[in-house]
Amino acid sequence: MTKLFDLGGRVAIVTGGNGGIGLGMATGLVRAGAAVVIAGRNAGKNAAAVKALEALGAKAAAVEADVTGQAACRALVEAALDQFGRLDILVNNAGINIRKQPQDYTPEEWKSVLDTNLTSAFLCSQAAYPAMLKAGGGKIINIGSMLSIFGAAFAGPYGASKGGMVQLTKSLASAWAKDNIQVNAVLPGWIDTELTRAARKEVTGLHERVLARTPAGRWGDPAAFAGIAVSLD
Ligand code: NDP
Repeated sequence: MTKLFDLGGRVAIVTGGNGGIGLGMATGLVRAGAAVVIAGRNAGKNAAAVKALEALGAKAAAVEADVTGQAACRALVEAALDQFGRLDILVNNAGINIRKQPQDYTPEEWKSVLDTNLTSAFLCSQAAYPAMLKAGGGKIINIGSMLSIFGAAFAGPYGASKGGMVQLTKSLASAWAKDNIQVNAVLPGWIDTELTRAARKEVTGLHERVLARTPAGRWGDPAAFAGIAVSLD
């Protein structure tokens, strides 16, 4: 009988897996038995995350990569194939925000947020597709946001990128279902990470507003994403 939630023998890539939600998801994947390749730009954060994952007895590796470019996404998939021989799971999690009023963004800032949060997911999914076909199927998890749905005055490009992530997810899911590749999006609420620690510094009153509007009365914990990642694989 197939054991539920067993990812033994599977190989996953988690972009932005060196901290926050990505590391939470990577931890869940390795605890379920998968080998994980994390990708991030910061070599120090990558090394620390690999050490933490290996301490769980996992096969883990890091690739120093900026996933906004096609060549980097292709190289990331190649690295996973070289290291672990196959690719079954891709978590498109890398993300940034630049917080300003809409009238104040430069075109470069707009592009930087869209490239990091949305284009990277498209490019990494494209790069992963042939390897997933070869594996007989795969799972792609795209990280959206509550701002995929709601607006925020300080998050024009971010909200646009996250809204796009939901629509990209639907298109990929429709196109690749025939190939046994399932594509889902996760839309987190307010989670305590480096990203939102910066937001709390930059947006006056955000911390209090989040606590007041969150029924649990606290910020979310990235560790909660371990089970979410596994349940979607
Ligand atoms: P973190 O800042 O902790 O993590 C972001 C990750 O993305 C880091 O690992 C960072 O690594 C990586 N990253 C950023 N840019 C690039 C790039 N160009 N190439 C490769 N990696 C990159 O934030 P979170 O964990 O909060 O965010 C993870 C995802 O969850 C994001 O997509 C975010 O939008 C989303 N999200 C977060 C919420 C929250 O409340 N925290 C709510 C809703 C969605 P490095 O710096 O080494 O490149």
